Amino acid sequence: MMNFHILTLFPEMVLQGLNTSIIGRAVDKGYISIEAVNIRDYTLDKHGKVDDYTYGGGAGMLMQAQPVYDACMAVQDRIMAGNGASKARVIYVTPQGKTFHQELAQELAREEELIFLCGHYEGIDERVLEEVVTDEISIGDYVLTGGELPAMVMIDAIARLVPGVLHNTDSAVTESFYDGLLEYPQYSRPEIWHDKRVPPVLLCGDHAKVDAWRLEQSVLRTKERRPDLYEAYMDRMSRETCRGRK
Ligand code: SAM
Repeated sequence: MMNFHILTLFPEMVLQGLNTSIIGRAVDKGYISIEAVNIRDYTLDKHGKVDDYTYGGGAGMLMQAQPVYDACMAVQDRIMAGNGASKARVIYVTPQGKTFHQELAQELAREEELIFLCGHYEGIDERVLEEVVTDEISIGDYVLTGGELPAMVMIDAIARLVPGVLHNTDSAVTESFYDGLLEYPQYSRPEIWHDKRVPPVLLCGDHAKVDAWRLEQSVLRTKERRPDLYEAYMDRMSRETCRGRK
């Protein structure tokens, strides 16, 4: 069981997005839980304000330290009361963080609790980030209006690696990036569509031949589309061959 906690000003956005399809079913079946905590519920401002102007000037508003800190501490306290152990990792989703990738998703899928902190407007007061955040992660070199979509992207990628979430455990293992390669092309019925035939090897029933064809296609596709991944894969293969000879 893995528990995701999302600190946000827009809880309905993340809950609507995540409580459907495969991730929604995983929540219903108890493989994961997803909680959205409204940061605004923790503000001490009597008008419910959570943002203010930035010191030094500049366009836009900044989320203030106090409500973010109190919301985060409330979740950490609950987590520690539940497991009697350590605090959870707190991921601030930010374009300034390291870029998210499959290996990081695999690493995070081994945690039992994860807290995602979503910024909005111009971002969040640096002082609270220094106190509560353990990881800063970006989904790419572009700027979005808020952290809700990045948090949803990361939670989707992590949750599907939690045992039980995907019906077929093979699917995560054969997919793109798992082994440093892109996935091979796939086909479904009918055998001929728009005069295009399914590659005959996939109809022959010989699993060894199918596997060999798929690996070959994965390597070719990776070479064409992602030379960076292909180079890393070839380096790894030649290191493994050398080790095998010793
Ligand atoms: N002023 C910030 C900067 O230049 O780095 C950008 C703030 S952005 C408009 C508002 C919030 O959206 C950020 O605090 C962050 O939580 C989220 N965000 C925007 N782009 C993101 C990205 N590429 N990856 C992760 N989070 C992002």
